[in-house]
Amino acid sequence: MRLTAIKLAGFKSFVDPTHIPIVGQMVGVVGPNGCGKSNVIDAVRWVLGESQAKQLRGESMQDVIFNGSGTRKPVSRASVELVFDNSLGRAAGQWTQYAEISVKRVLNRNGDSSYYVNNQHVRRRDLTDIFLGTGLGTKTSYAIIEQGMISRIIEAKPDELRGFLEEAAGISKYKERRRETESR
Ligand code: ATP
Ligand code: MG
Repeated sequence: MRLTAIKLAGFKSFVDPTHIPIVGQMVGVVGPNGCGKSNVIDAVRWVLGESQAKQLRGESMQDVIFNGSGTRKPVSRASVELVFDNSLGRAAGQWTQYAEISVKRVLNRNGDSSYYVNNQHVRRRDLTDIFLGTGLGTKTSYAIIEQGMISRIIEAKPDELRGFLEEAAGISKYKERRRETESR
C-alpha cells in the first residue's frame, strides 16, 4: 500500500484544511524550526490508531486539536485522513478489493473519537486490522523510523526483535487472528 495523500484539519498547527500530496518515491518535508514538519508525522501516527498522547508529544489526546494562536481561536475538532493506493490489493480483509483506501480519524474536544474507512464508520480495530502485515501497524510498525528507533532494534530483546521480523515477513496478521480465536 502506498500513501498518496495526507489531509489534515484542526490537527495541531494545521488549523485550516490542508492537503499534502505524496508524489513519487521520495518526498522531503523541509521548513524552519517549529513550522509543523513533525506534526505531519504525528498526524500519520495518530490516524493509524496511536493511543498514547506521549507518542504524539502531548499530555492528553485532546492536545492534538488546534488550541489557538495569537491570531486564531482554538477549534473543537481535529481530523486526519490518509489516502492509500491499494492497487496491489495488500490491504487485509474485506478491503483488499478497493483500489484506493482512505482511513480517517476524527476527535472532538468532548473526547468523542471516530474512525472511518472509505467513509464508512468503523471501530478502531477495523482500521488497524487493515494494516496488519503491511509494516504500518501501530504495535510493530517499522514504517516510521524515528530518532532512537535504530538503537531500539539493535538493543531489542529476542521477543521484540521477533515481532519486527514477523511484521516484515507478513505473518503477524495470522498470529493476531490465532490469538483472537484462542481467546474466544
Ligand atoms: P523542528 O524543526 O524544530 O523539529 P517542526 O517543523 O518539526 O520543528 P513541529 O514540532 O511539527 O515543528 O511543530 C511545532 C509547532 O506546532 C509549534 O509552533 C506548536 O505551537 C505547534 N502546535 C503543536 N500542537 C499544537 C496545537 N494543538 N495547536 C496549535 N499549535 C500546535
Ligand atoms: Mg521536528
